[in-house]
Amino acid sequence: MTSIAILGAGCSGLAAAHVLQDAGWQVTLFEKSRDVGGRVATLSREGFIYDHGAQYIKPGAPASISWITGRFRTPDLIDIEKPVWVFNGQGEIQEGDAAQNAEEKWTYRSGLTTLPKQMARGLDIHLETRIDHVRQTPQGWWLVPEHGAAQGPFSRLLITFPLPQARELLQRSQLEPGLQEAIVAQLGGATYRPLLSIMLGYRPTPQRRPYYALVNIDKAHPISWLAWEHEKAPERVPSGAGLLIAQMAPDYSRVQWEREDSELVREGADMVAQLVQEEELATPIFSNVQRWRYALPDQKADSEQLHTLTLPSGLAFCGDGFVGGRVHRALEHGIQMASLLAYAPTPPDQQ
Ligand SMILES: Cc1cc2nc3c(=O)[nH]c(=O)nc-3n(C[C@H](O)[C@H](O)[C@H](O)COP(=O)(O)OP(=O)(O)OC[C@H]3O[C@@H](n4cnc5c(N)ncnc54)[C@H](O)[C@@H]3O)c2cc1C
Repeated sequence: MTSIAILGAGCSGLAAAHVLQDAGWQVTLFEKSRDVGGRVATLSREGFIYDHGAQYIKPGAPASISWITGRFRTPDLIDIEKPVWVFNGQGEIQEGDAAQNAEEKWTYRSGLTTLPKQMARGLDIHLETRIDHVRQTPQGWWLVPEHGAAQGPFSRLLITFPLPQARELLQRSQLEPGLQEAIVAQLGGATYRPLLSIMLGYRPTPQRRPYYALVNIDKAHPISWLAWEHEKAPERVPSGAGLLIAQMAPDYSRVQWEREDSELVREGADMVAQLVQEEELATPIFSNVQRWRYALPDQKADSEQLHTLTLPSGLAFCGDGFVGGRVHRALEHGIQMASLLAYAPTPPDQQ
């Protein structure tokens, strides 16, 4: 048996799929959404094109650099040249860290989803297929989707989504005695923070600034990140317009989660206008709110401990929950875990 199922077609799952496919495995991905990319997400609305999840990608280890700039390169790949500056709880703005600003900040003219879309080419991906639970049998792994027939058996299984969601799936699943409890316990310590992202479109274009974005360094402001999205490429906005993305701090996001979008936009736009002292920013002409329940990991899980338990059963996990909330790290962990899974010994039952 050489078949493997990957749950989730974010950057870690897509990276893993290529490693396994290169190693001769028959790979099938199952993705709950209408498109690939997960938290690398771009929306196009009313002429505004924006990354409402990850903002840009930093160069990481040689493996991810060579995939982004080589194997999966597109002519669309660009570096955001302007720096990121910082601000504090009092709203004081200063130049950012020179060393960090010297690093490239990669994005794509038409949106960050260009990378996962490019990586998805040539892969067998079942979109709009949310896997509800899995069953471990002597023949291999069966997947039970929310709708439709069970899929399987697969000799290996790789789960790639945020670890609290992976844990919930395993709690609903049927695994050999002891294994399920042990995995659920291991994943229990992993936590993610929520994030409200508020997109604000303006006409005319907001004032030009010496920076592309501002980041709050003392965690004492309700806004944690504010980016001038139109600085990425002019085609991101209609002519003469501009778009700002305000990502709200975890505490603010938790407390304000249930509020109406219109109220969040009004309050967010006021805060933005006050922070950068530009009155016109209080009245956007376009807005959109995105809620990320599992935006970024706070407490990571221990990949080595978990996989000592699961690899003998042909089961593995990958993604940012083990390595920190960055696209390049998720991608690199996908590559690493796929390499281990590809060459893990066949579970005794399946021999
Ligand atoms: C608002 C925000 C801003 C960020 N900014 C940056 C940034 O500027 N730079 C940076 O490097 N990183 C950033 N990140 C982090 C980065 O996006 C993530 O670390 C990375 O994309 C995680 O990839 P992943 O493959 O581990 O998980 P995901 O991208 O979450 O992929 C998991 C996939 O699994 C799917 N899935 C979930 N449940 C099921 C199921 N039951 N069945 C089938 N499929 C399922 C999901 O739909 C998803 O596509 C940001 C994240 C957020 C939310």
